[in-house]
Amino acid sequence: MLNISGIREGVVLDHIQAGKSMDIYRYLRLGELDCTVAIIKNAKSNKMGRKDIIKIEGSLDAIDLDVLGYIDHNITVNIIRDDKIAEKRTLHLPKILKNVIHCKNPRCITSIEQELPHIFYLDDKDHEVYRCRYCDEKHS
Ligand SMILES: [Zn+2]
Repeated sequence: MLNISGIREGVVLDHIQAGKSMDIYRYLRLGELDCTVAIIKNAKSNKMGRKDIIKIEGSLDAIDLDVLGYIDHNITVNIIRDDKIAEKRTLHLPKILKNVIHCKNPRCITSIEQELPHIFYLDDKDHEVYRCRYCDEKHS
């Protein structure tokens, strides 16, 4: 049973690959949120051996599930209400990524026009390949 004490309303990201919690913290910009964030590293897991867990106080609106799906769609998202798991969300690879990854092609228009958003689309779901919407450069 997942221990969620200390957070009455919030979100628990479970089954994070051990060692990946800080990457997720940065990608989701959790440091910029004005709420309690708890990171548990190397928790024991029957399924994974070791895993990381992130607990975030507050609403799900603060979390970009597309970004999370891009990083690792095997993460379990638990919504906590009144100290209990009220809902579980499954993640998917997002079809579009906006301002998450950047195009590295020096000839891409996003390298020249700095104000353009960086937009990538999912080109190959099985191999998790994303390409730049402007120049089709593959993101690796
Ligand atoms: Zn590009």
